[in-house]
Formats: sequence, structure tokens, C-alpha cells
Amino acid sequence: MSTITISGLDYTELEAVLATGIDHGGNPIEPFIEADRGWPLRCCLTESEPGDEIAIIAWSPFPWKGAYAETGPVVVHAQPCGGPTSSDLPTDLDQRSMTLRPYGHDQRIAYHHVRHVPAEESLSDHLREMLAEDDVDFVHGRNTTGGCFSFSANRC
Ligand SMILES: [Zn+2]
Repeated sequence: MSTITISGLDYTELEAVLATGIDHGGNPIEPFIEADRGWPLRCCLTESEPGDEIAIIAWSPFPWKGAYAETGPVVVHAQPCGGPTSSDLPTDLDQRSMTLRPYGHDQRIAYHHVRHVPAEESLSDHLREMLAEDDVDFVHGRNTTGGCFSFSANRC
């Protein structure tokens, strides 16, 4: 079993994108204040607090370009927040239902390793098993219903 490290968006790149005001899809970033609900933030892997200034932006969470490097919606703090405080999977995320989508060294989805994990199972355990496979480069946690990017898991 390999040791894993968890990350959200590339934080250095996110700071640069926030500074330009234009997301990966070419859209203007439009911050708003959410008064009621917590949004899953991909900058720091927390949930928003009432009153936080946040934005829904188009993002491509890949270290390379190519046909499989799609761009999709993520929610972030609209101002730099410092990013995650740990490289471990946050406890509240570990118990969530999630689609785990692995990518191979060929920069394609490793479809034969995709897992749909129900809420009562440990995502960390599944991620360790998947990253022990030689043909898996890294794994994305994706929202089970919408497919939205949640986090990236890599070997240490
Ligand atoms: Zn944040």
C-alpha cells in the first residue's frame, strides 16, 4: 500500500488566475457572498462559511494538456486563502460517496480502475489500493452525480 498525498487545485496557479479575473474557460470570475449554505471549496478543501466571498470558476485540474484534460466547474474562495493546511484527505471528505477516477501515465482515464465508492467506505483505503497499481499515475475524486472535480490524490 502506498502513501498518498491529497491536493485541491494547484494553489500557485489559482492565485495567478484570481489575479487575472479570468478562469480556465475564458469566463470573467464573478465573486459572490453566500449567506446560507456551505459550498465545497477546492482551493483549501474546506466548506465555505456564511459570509465568505466565493466564486464558481471553470478549471482544468491537470498537470498536462490533452483530450482528457477537461475543464469543469469548481467553487473557490474569491480571494487567496492560503490553500489546504494538510496533505491528508479531510475527515469529512473521507466518508463521502465519490467516484474515484484514475489517470494513467498515457494521460488518459484508466477506465478499468474507476471506482464508485459509497458513503460508508473509506476513500483513503480505496485510494491507497488504486495508487498501488503500476498503470495509475494519479486519481481524481469526482462528485458522484455531477462529475465535478473534488481533489487529486498522488503518491508521496
Ligand atoms: Zn479556500
